[in-house]
Amino acid sequence: MKHSNRNKERPTWDTYFLKVAMLVSERATCPRMHCGCVLVRDKRILSTGYNGSIPGDEHCEDIGCMVHENHCIRTIHAEMNAIIQCAIHGVSTQDATAYVTNMPCTNCTKALIGAGIKEVVIFSDYHDTKAEEFFAKANVPIRRINMPEKVIDYDLESFTSAKVIEKEYD
Ligand SMILES: [Zn+2]
Ligand SMILES: [Zn+2]
Repeated sequence: MKHSNRNKERPTWDTYFLKVAMLVSERATCPRMHCGCVLVRDKRILSTGYNGSIPGDEHCEDIGCMVHENHCIRTIHAEMNAIIQCAIHGVSTQDATAYVTNMPCTNCTKALIGAGIKEVVIFSDYHDTKAEEFFAKANVPIRRINMPEKVIDYDLESFTSAKVIEKEYD
């Protein structure tokens, strides 16, 4: 029996990882910007990150942003959190590709370069960043691709081995 999913267009690796980054960004806690980052090596995800407060600290969305020189400085940025997750788990970030929903800010750019990231893939730009300058100097190419479709196509109805749960869980 053929799954109907096969007939649909399979996402490219770039689209796949950027869609994951978009999904991850839904967990962001600063209402000024929702960012997501996925670190990938050899087509495998090493870690993910979104912009959120220091673990245990209050969230912007609950108590308001901490704005300093026109930027909210409360959160650890998505790229930093992705690198931090690797540090916690003892995973090398060397030669990984960073899929980010937005052009990294200046600090994250420096951290990504320092972490040995060899390529950055984004679909949206960010004002006020030295990213292009620093990445160019470090020979890290930035690849811009079109924003992936925001639809995740999970067709539960037509799979024979899975059943839709009728009951509502809280
Ligand atoms: Zn904030
Ligand atoms: Zn940043």
